[in-house]
Amino acid sequence: MAANFQVTLTPLVRVPIRPIARALALIVFVAAPSLSRKPTSPDITTEDVRSRTYIIADDSMEGRDTGKRGGLRSARYIAGELKRLGLEPAGDSGTYLQRIPWVSRRPDTTGVLRVGERSLRWGSDYLVIPKLGFALALGGQPFGGGSRGDNVATVYGGRVGDSTIAPDLTRDKLVVFAAPAFPFWQIDNLRRFTVARAIGVVTLDLGAPSAYRIRRETYWDSTAASGVAPLTIISVTRAAAAAMFTGSFDQLAIGTAGLPLSGSAGFIDGPTEAPAYNVVGIVRGSDPKLRATYVAIGAHHDHVGMGAPVDHDSIRAFNQVVRVRGADDPPPPQVTDEQWTRIHAILDSLHRVHGVRLDSIFNGADDDGSGTVLALELAESFVKAKVKPRRSLLFVWHTAEEKGLYGAQYFSDHPTVPRDSIVAQVNMDQMGRGDPVDNPPGGPNALVVIGPRRLSTELGNMVEKVNARPEHRFALDYEFDRDNDPTNGYCRSDHYMYARYGIPVAFFAAAAWYIDYHMVSDEAQYIAYDRMTKIGRFIRDYVADVANLSHRPVVDQPKPEPNGLCRQ
Ligand SMILES: [Zn+2]
Repeated sequence: MAANFQVTLTPLVRVPIRPIARALALIVFVAAPSLSRKPTSPDITTEDVRSRTYIIADDSMEGRDTGKRGGLRSARYIAGELKRLGLEPAGDSGTYLQRIPWVSRRPDTTGVLRVGERSLRWGSDYLVIPKLGFALALGGQPFGGGSRGDNVATVYGGRVGDSTIAPDLTRDKLVVFAAPAFPFWQIDNLRRFTVARAIGVVTLDLGAPSAYRIRRETYWDSTAASGVAPLTIISVTRAAAAAMFTGSFDQLAIGTAGLPLSGSAGFIDGPTEAPAYNVVGIVRGSDPKLRATYVAIGAHHDHVGMGAPVDHDSIRAFNQVVRVRGADDPPPPQVTDEQWTRIHAILDSLHRVHGVRLDSIFNGADDDGSGTVLALELAESFVKAKVKPRRSLLFVWHTAEEKGLYGAQYFSDHPTVPRDSIVAQVNMDQMGRGDPVDNPPGGPNALVVIGPRRLSTELGNMVEKVNARPEHRFALDYEFDRDNDPTNGYCRSDHYMYARYGIPVAFFAAAAWYIDYHMVSDEAQYIAYDRMTKIGRFIRDYVADVANLSHRPVVDQPKPEPNGLCRQ
């Protein structure tokens, strides 16, 4: 699941070793091939689950970052497994790989806007707001576009968050808004002004996140979201806004016309270190009619890459005391002496066992190496089964989930099978933790379930029906499925990109949080393999039952607006 808070590691020990880390990773990668070819069996076994997890979460995968060589390696590993297992390729042009538009994007710092006698320059007078995080999942119109034009009319729109101009009156104009009364504001307030040429907000004097000034890797598909070009939102200074309008800016009436504006403001795109791929394969169903429909099974193979080297154990010791939900807990403003004493006691005991271990790689063994592995185990189990389910199974390993669900957004916008032939989607994210040491809220036998009744009561009932079998009997934990649950799990992983099109989804997680969540310490040695294997067998049986239904799961709940706001 993509994180709620910015990851700030609180290392107790830090040294600059990036070049060494990369060299080390290379040696491990070269040395690793023997690991990757351990024969797996058609059954879902702890041994297979473990050996695959050690591969997908190996340092050589460098944290599987989208657009980086680590992300490319995980895509190739999965595609290689699908070929070895004999699934039908369902990516681009007969391959298992579906490329998503991923670019390296930097602001065009040479862009100049002219109004009257004034030239407004990038960085000092204006900044263009890049696309940040969950653009789509937060609803509607993407933004992060750029714009150019001559003598574009300008109009004053009022104060954001207050009564503003009617969108129609801003058609093909630059509409300029005063800064909101309160500091934090939701950009999506502005999504109503899609007809405007561009949107100006007088906020630059309030400061701008560094993200507005730097090169970023980002998803760029202007055709997504039903072909609408992304909004251009420009943050300008008060002085720049004053140059556009005669009279005092604070006294302007809504709808006041300003001076025309000419020039360009936007971004320059470039290639990323490596292409970004979803990986897609099919196990063909056995029923002559129903095999043209699909139960989709998903996981995300990307994670967050590498960061500054830290002492691995200091993260665990620190989080055990003050950040038990890992990155889902904001860094504490204050750590008490008593807490530090406990942290140091834990750290000393860990160092006594294996010394200081420097770590810069977010291995993502659980997030979502575990889901990736279980999807591979299910694929092998079904492709080698003598009797295949009646419907076909569409396996999709999404990329760019951590960046904002973009791999799943792209696949659901550009599916490689007819979208309405997908009768349900089963998503797995973080399937490997939740042992007693993690003290999961639902208990050591808990299985977190989110969303199965949000579109189809039947799909939800089937979870319980399958779970009632003696070999399963998990403590189904619906705590995170409550409306308005602060964890917002229904909107934070790939399944929502299917649900927004009215496809009923069931999202499973072993444990929603633990100390290593989105930390360099999310590693293979901390995974609960027996529990993960048991969960994998449960999901296999659940998928089989859904795929053998003679009718598609009945959608009896209201369907969301595909590009609307995700509401849990
Ligand atoms: Zn995840």
